[in-house]
Amino acid sequence: QLDTLRAEGNYRIFAHLERCRGEFPRAASHVADTPDKITVWCSNDYLGMGQHPAVVREMVDTIEACGTGAGGTRNISGTNCHHLALEAELADLHGKDAVLLFTSGYVSNWAALTTLGSRIENAVILSDAGNHASMIEGIRQSRADKVIWKHNDWRDLDRKLAATGDRPKIVAFESVYSMDGDIAPLKEICDLAERYNAFTYLDEVHAVGLYGQRGGGVSERDGVAHRIDIIEGTLGKAIGVMGGYIAANADIIDAIRSYASGFIFTTALSPVLVAGALASVETLKASNHLREQHQERAAHLKKLLADEGLPVMDSVSHIVPVKVGDPVQCKRVSDYLLEEHNIYVQPINYPTVPKGTERLRFTPTPLHTDDHMGDLIKALDDVWTALKLKRAA
Ligand code: PLP
Repeated sequence: QLDTLRAEGNYRIFAHLERCRGEFPRAASHVADTPDKITVWCSNDYLGMGQHPAVVREMVDTIEACGTGAGGTRNISGTNCHHLALEAELADLHGKDAVLLFTSGYVSNWAALTTLGSRIENAVILSDAGNHASMIEGIRQSRADKVIWKHNDWRDLDRKLAATGDRPKIVAFESVYSMDGDIAPLKEICDLAERYNAFTYLDEVHAVGLYGQRGGGVSERDGVAHRIDIIEGTLGKAIGVMGGYIAANADIIDAIRSYASGFIFTTALSPVLVAGALASVETLKASNHLREQHQERAAHLKKLLADEGLPVMDSVSHIVPVKVGDPVQCKRVSDYLLEEHNIYVQPINYPTVPKGTERLRFTPTPLHTDDHMGDLIKALDDVWTALKLKRAA
């Protein structure tokens, strides 16, 4: 099976990097035959918060004050004042009663959906076709019936909700889909959920910190956060640290806290991570500055790519995908950029994206300057010519 992956160009190879505080998006490269420093174009540290002085300071202070790990599960000596403070801060961010932290966004989706789907008798989960692996796994493990609706197509969701009769329904979807950069029609989905008395579960992993006046995500931007039953997020992307969470009303949080195996039987997040995440959330809540810069950088890169005739795909968010359309070529482009131009962008191949839509996925941050962008465009122009790749029509 490994040979099959290799033959199809889908075998994954780590790019061995060393992040350098104060230099992001530059990083040291430990990949053979590459220069010492490269420019990273595919980090999910979307705002560079992973090196923000307030976050770094808070983590250093916390490790000095508390030591390293949490020392136990949340129920057995692992709950620290930092966990409670961050849960309160995130609950406020999303306008919910309560929040429950998990060790990652993946675990929060998996644990919450497994628990909901298995505890709600006769439940049916209506899952967007583009949902992330962590949601798919959670739904599978819940053993609840699953109905897949066409990606972002609320009319299809309407038909499928109507067909489920009076069974308890959970609609599970994301706001920003991270491979295409498209955004779900949240208002229409909430209208339907209310009409059919369905429960709503929204993954805001690629939107928390990035959208809304205080960084509460697309649900905040679109004014629908109060209509979503569970908002799920990560602390590992725009927040720049690590961990995940769900935000909901007090009863839901209490139920998942009491029954989710993926919450109960694992060591709590280190207070150091939690303190850093708290500083990051507070910083992002207080000002829109980084969010505005982020959107400007993404729009600028899209324009530069289009002006150069490079096949930038439609995206209404900060994600900038460029289509290659073949897994082997996609890997070759990525290798060439790294070896010849000191530019690192990971090829995105099947099964992460459908076959034939293999792509490079750029994530410009406020720290990617005009010079970085100029270098990128020149490098892409070179590799597109060298490998005779298709330009945009
Ligand atoms: N949900 C979505 C949509 C994701 O893309 C990811 C990770 O890429 C996750 C959840 C998992 O989040 P984390 O990286 O914090 O485990």
